[in-house]
Amino acid sequence: MPDYISALDLFTIGIGPSSSHTVGPMRAALLFAEAVNAEGKLTQTHRVSVKLFGSLGATGPGHGTTNAIVAGLNGQTPETCNPDDVLVSWDKAINTSSIAILNHKISFEEKDFSFQPLIRLPKHSNGLRFSALDENQEALVEQTYYSVGGGFVEADHPISKPTRGEVPYPFISADQLLEICLKENKTIAEIAFANEIALHGEEQLVSKLEAIWNAMKLCIEEGLKTKGVLPGYLAVDRRAADMAEQLSVVQDPSEVSNEWLQAYAIAVNEQNASGRRVVTAPTNGAAGIIPAVAYWAMKFKGVDSSVIARDYLLTAAAIGSLYKRNASISGAEAGCQGEVGSACSMAAAGLAAVLGGSVPQIENAAEIAMEHNLGLTCDPVGGFVQMPCIERNAIASGTAVSAVRLSLLGDGSHKISLDTVIETMRQTGLDMSSKYKETSLGGLAVNVVEC
Ligand code: SF4
Repeated sequence: MPDYISALDLFTIGIGPSSSHTVGPMRAALLFAEAVNAEGKLTQTHRVSVKLFGSLGATGPGHGTTNAIVAGLNGQTPETCNPDDVLVSWDKAINTSSIAILNHKISFEEKDFSFQPLIRLPKHSNGLRFSALDENQEALVEQTYYSVGGGFVEADHPISKPTRGEVPYPFISADQLLEICLKENKTIAEIAFANEIALHGEEQLVSKLEAIWNAMKLCIEEGLKTKGVLPGYLAVDRRAADMAEQLSVVQDPSEVSNEWLQAYAIAVNEQNASGRRVVTAPTNGAAGIIPAVAYWAMKFKGVDSSVIARDYLLTAAAIGSLYKRNASISGAEAGCQGEVGSACSMAAAGLAAVLGGSVPQIENAAEIAMEHNLGLTCDPVGGFVQMPCIERNAIASGTAVSAVRLSLLGDGSHKISLDTVIETMRQTGLDMSSKYKETSLGGLAVNVVEC
């Protein structure tokens, strides 16, 4: 794990409904297709077998994994794919009995994908094993990948990654980050900005941060005007658009600013549940919180959009990198505290920063926000990223704002550090039964009657 995790890796423009079950598997499938091609085995490949282990095997279809893998094998990426095409990939493969590995068409049967929810590979709960088979069903290339949360992918073999320069301010803990800020007399956003420039150059960094913030805004605005029913047999009604209609007629919008905050989060998560374009922040299941709090700050606190695209996102990402590095942002690994809890903490840090909080107040806001998400389990009903996920983002957005209010009323001094809370989240995740880690085998997922 590098000492510095870039904001541009934590916030990526992709598609719903899940970073670990949709975005990561699509990237893994593309990496596999490219490996088959690189080994000169593409034209000999007759079939591809895909095994989905652990959490991917348990909730894969509900989380859009099968669509994502077929699209990834075909050469599509989460950043550039057409969400409409991805949504029909699996059905199209079944109907035509064929898929394409890059531009090479091969035969396909539903049984080429197998689901192994009870087998957990040693490295991570979200395992995928791909085999390219020749006409005699002999394996030509076989590779195992892991979708480790937030769209990040690891493998049993080395994956080539772009080489990046050193950052001027590496940090692996909140304590270190605070020390650097104090010593350099800089904000967290300024430290992160210097690091990111070293990795990407200023021009690319600024344009990508703007693109990320624009994609977040667009997702909220599209979600607020889209009515209908979410995909899947649960037939969950979309409600952000109805909420927006009701709130729009209130004469003084500031009276209902909290309700707007919730509508923004629900809008994003309904877009996500529908497989639309969303920003992984830091995951898709928790994708509503960071955009909603930012949009709320812009609308109700007068924070300039350009400040959000820089200071808010960079501060949130600096805190997110600590969760990714020192605990987990994967629901399959740490439960929902790793997804919604991390996003809530990141949003609180970003909001505290753009509202003028000091570095200790920002750290305090991030700490408060996670402290009250500790132990949050993951139990999506039916394996869909809908219940409790959508409402949970709305509630966590309010928690982030409350955490900032509390922190800004103090001077930043507090007893429990952010590092302590992150470590507690990691330990709680280890102790959590696998029933509550994106398997849909416990909690609401088994107590809600599906009809
Ligand atoms: S319950 Fe939380 S971790 Fe689980 S799928 Fe929903 S948002 Fe993700």
